[in-house]
Formats: sequence, structure tokens, C-alpha cells
Amino acid sequence: MKKITINCKSCKKRMNILNKKAKYRCPYCGTIYEFTWYKKLLKTIIAPFLAIISFFEKIRKRIATKYRNIKTTYSYLKQLKKNNPNWKEYLKNYRAKK
Ligand SMILES: [Zn+2]
Repeated sequence: MKKITINCKSCKKRMNILNKKAKYRCPYCGTIYEFTWYKKLLKTIIAPFLAIISFFEKIRKRIATKYRNIKTTYSYLKQLKKNNPNWKEYLKNYRAKK
């Protein structure tokens, strides 16, 4: 049977329990944790959602970083145009050096 991880209500430590309804004693503080059918349902339903949410959060962060890079490049180019009338030449030389 598949094991799942829960957090103890009183000491907040993680413990592994079997994925079936029963009572489990926390190995750290001795608190009885009752794993009921609705908790099982909640765990089974919520766990995939949490995985999806963290997946999207990862993508969102990646996009945010990319956007920030583009913004930095853009403001750099803008600054360059302002300071350097020959910015196209400058950029060509800069790229040629690379
Ligand atoms: Zn505990």
C-alpha cells in the first residue's frame, strides 16, 4: 500500500502513514492522528492540485525572469540611444566583438 506524508497537528513534524483510514500515533510527541475517509479523499484530491499549482508557479517565475531580462536589455538600449547618437554602429561593434 502507498504511503503518504502528513504533518502532525501538535508538533508539526512529518510522518509517513499508510494511505488507509486508521489511527496513527505520532512517533515524536505521541499525539493520535485519525486518518479518516474524508481526510483521505482530501489528500487524494488536493495533492495533484498542489503539484499543478507548484508547476505553474515554476513557469510563472521563469517567465518573470525572462521578462525582467528583456526589460533590462530594453532599458539598456534606450540609454544607449540617448547617450550615443551612433548607437547602431556601437551595437554592431559590440556584437562583432562577441
Ligand atoms: Zn507529533
